Amino acid sequence: MNLSNKNIIHIKEDGVEYLQFKELLKYSDKIQHCYSLKPLEFSDKNPKSQPNYEKMCDILGMDYTKIIKSTQKHTSIVKDIKEFTKEKFEYVDGFITGAKDIPLVTKYADCTPIILYDKNKNIIGNVHSGWRGTLKRISQNAVELMMKNYDVNPKDIIVCIGPCIKQCHFQVEEDFIYQFRKEFKNIEKYYKIGEILDGKQKFYFDTTSLIIDNLIEIGIKSENIYDSGICSVCNKDNMFSYRAEKEKADRNMNIIMLK
Ligand SMILES: [Zn+2]
Repeated sequence: MNLSNKNIIHIKEDGVEYLQFKELLKYSDKIQHCYSLKPLEFSDKNPKSQPNYEKMCDILGMDYTKIIKSTQKHTSIVKDIKEFTKEKFEYVDGFITGAKDIPLVTKYADCTPIILYDKNKNIIGNVHSGWRGTLKRISQNAVELMMKNYDVNPKDIIVCIGPCIKQCHFQVEEDFIYQFRKEFKNIEKYYKIGEILDGKQKFYFDTTSLIIDNLIEIGIKSENIYDSGICSVCNKDNMFSYRAEKEKADRNMNIIMLK
């Protein structure tokens, strides 16, 4: 199936499929990016992933030996990469940089990929917002770090939200709602009451809307936010989904680099 829509273009090239944001393609002289699709897998646990980084970087005109990535742990920690490093990051779930030719990578099976781009200061960010990271406001942390380290004005930042588990499939229970209610106001806005299964009330949670509101709260303009609108579970034939595939799920990659 072709996943292209008003914000996204679905590309098939050399037997490889990936998504790009139309808005970011307007700055293709300055940045390169993509969200990978099946069958290419990018799990750190899977030894088959390594050649895939090489293959994808070849297509995108990136040097795979310069990739910065982390063993993501659903934290709210964002790291500023000032220059290339061979450091193995752990407990880091987001990166920002103003340095050119350093591809920033995050990996996914349902969590929310967030790309940040300040076109004035030419600063990028790549954030993995799992539900725990969303609860701990990782997207706001990334914007704050861009403001602090590069004097970025949030009004200049373009935000692109990649495929993730959407409300149609994000079934949660009372304990989940409870944690979010403690952290955020008007939490009722972000969920629908679902069915009762095995005596437990189910809810359907909309993490994308919450992330968008968090970004607006910190100064991002709503017209600068582009949502892929793609649910990773609905589209499990095209992308890895933990909800749909459980432990078997491999990972999709979100990559962005300043040229
Ligand atoms: Zn869905």
